[in-house]
Amino acid sequence: MIGKNWTLQSLIDGKMAVTAFCHKAACNHSKTLNLDALRDRFGPDAPAMQWDLRPKLKCEVCQSKGVGLIYSPDSTKVSGMGQNLYAKTKGGR
Ligand SMILES: [Zn+2]
Repeated sequence: MIGKNWTLQSLIDGKMAVTAFCHKAACNHSKTLNLDALRDRFGPDAPAMQWDLRPKLKCEVCQSKGVGLIYSPDSTKVSGMGQNLYAKTKGGR
């Protein structure tokens, strides 16, 4: 995984979620990107590394170009045991 260049399709296949967040402290807006929509727009082989995507993005609230990205496993798509355990502990009963 490390050292691999992500494309939009490989992010989807890898069940990754990409969250964009605004660097402006006063705004602090964040949003999970719709990778399916991006793939339809830019193509499955479009590079999807942070430095590839960032220039395409801007904050939809304050229009700032200072947008950062977080790559993480998509918890809605990954069926992990750890998740259930966590939910149980958090539920408190
Ligand atoms: Zn913003």
